[in-house]
Amino acid sequence: MSREQQAVARARKAFETGRSKCLEHRIRQLKNLQRLFIEKQSVISDAVKKDLNKSEVGTQLYETLGLEGEISLAIKKLKEWAAPRPVEKNLMTISDTVYIKPEPLGVVLIIGAWNYPWAVTIQPLIGAIAAGNAAVVKPSEVCVHTSKVMEDLLPLYIDKELYPVVTGGVSETQELLRQRFDHIFYTGNSMVGKLIMEAAAKHLTPVTLELGGKSPCYIDKDCDISIACRRIAWGKYTNCGQTCIAPDYILCEPSVLDRVIEEVKKSIKEFYTDNPKTCPDYGRIINQRHFKRIMNMLEDSAIAAGGDNDESDCYIAPTVLRDVKPEAKVMQEEIFGPLLPILPVNGLGEAIKFINKGEKPLALYVFSSDDKVIKRMTDETSSGGLLANDCLVHYSVSSLPFGGVGNSGMGCYHGKFSFDQLSHLRGCLIKQLKMEGVNSMRYPPHTLKKLGWARFFILNNVDMGWIGRMTLLAVLAVVAAVVLQKYLL
Ligand code: NAD
Repeated sequence: MSREQQAVARARKAFETGRSKCLEHRIRQLKNLQRLFIEKQSVISDAVKKDLNKSEVGTQLYETLGLEGEISLAIKKLKEWAAPRPVEKNLMTISDTVYIKPEPLGVVLIIGAWNYPWAVTIQPLIGAIAAGNAAVVKPSEVCVHTSKVMEDLLPLYIDKELYPVVTGGVSETQELLRQRFDHIFYTGNSMVGKLIMEAAAKHLTPVTLELGGKSPCYIDKDCDISIACRRIAWGKYTNCGQTCIAPDYILCEPSVLDRVIEEVKKSIKEFYTDNPKTCPDYGRIINQRHFKRIMNMLEDSAIAAGGDNDESDCYIAPTVLRDVKPEAKVMQEEIFGPLLPILPVNGLGEAIKFINKGEKPLALYVFSSDDKVIKRMTDETSSGGLLANDCLVHYSVSSLPFGGVGNSGMGCYHGKFSFDQLSHLRGCLIKQLKMEGVNSMRYPPHTLKKLGWARFFILNNVDMGWIGRMTLLAVLAVVAAVVLQKYLL
């Protein structure tokens, strides 16, 4: 048996003991995970610093703080999320108990990406634990140091049989994908996303795909351009542009294009000084392969700011590209680096057309002081999430579903959405072995009279407040039972 097979078999066996289902066990595990982030903050930050040159404060701000918040929320809300959820009934089921029971799916495979290695790997794990599953955790091999720290630390804090960590690259992930899981939660690029779905199909395993793509950003001329550009520069250059929801490119009218460039340049200087290379808050490209990929995109566009680079240090300065053509290299795929192309468009209508010609993005940003512009953008486009007058922050709102649509992914998570995503929502109806008369309308021989009653019971919707409705339904049920007993049986 390979290492991967062993880990899955152990997780399955541990799941079958039933301990992951116990609410106290789930809460204990979540508290242990919470403790990890308090006790091992510096080990975590050191590794992320080595992988991506993130500062300790940056790692807390963009990775672990959000996780701590999600864990606290799950601990606080778990009883409520896991409880049976009563649903509305119709006349046929008035005297039955009808509810949704969230139940664990089984063994979940979590495949993480490297750009926010803790956030994108542990956030689904929080959902998996809360929902009562076992989970095999596969961090990205691309963030070498973090992957090792995760492998070392997680078993010290949480049940290592139920939640094993398997490290490795493509071949190890493929070996994992040959095993049978009850759900696969993948974060990464769309091309590999297709391979994951193909492998999952062999076992009819459901998937959540958290993918990426080109997230557009429209700046309306009616807006505070200085504030808009500061927020966009923050969204773009944080983590050196390696953020799945970073604004990928800007669309604006030619009349404000120069102003936009000047304001973005101003913000770059304000955030990262005249020399971002020595600024502790400016990151690095993850590796030389990605460095070359990004530099290659610069070839056929005009640089308006930045452009400096150093391959030996995986450094690319915050860069702005002006008057970029839709055919330019930088517009052919997700940039995932610190290049900000600006494309001129003639107003909102053209911007919407341009956006709708591409794949549905993970995030869509619109900056405007005019509510009508925001509404039109919202109504006439589609994307995983939409944010007006800011960047990235929707990620931190646990009450919003986070996920893509179309090419940017499927399924969603964060807060209760993670719990639901990794649960089976089982529909339950508990009937008594009484009132058999009511059921006669569905038993053969079928007659028009019985059909008439069935129509009445199934289709009649009465809306008169809770107490009135209950009283009416009770009376109707009794009348129906009597009528059916007398005339139909
Ligand atoms: P990556 O290279 O780390 O790959 C992701 C995972 O897939 C890794 O664990 C890796 O081992 C595995 N993998 C890679 N190739 C594979 C193959 N051929 N078969 C099986 N498994 C394979 O990360 P990446 O794809 O470079 O990540 C960047 C992408 O992820 C961007 O497109 C970004 O937008 C997206 N992303 C999305 C989110 C989100 O929440 N939607 C978050 C972060 C990143």
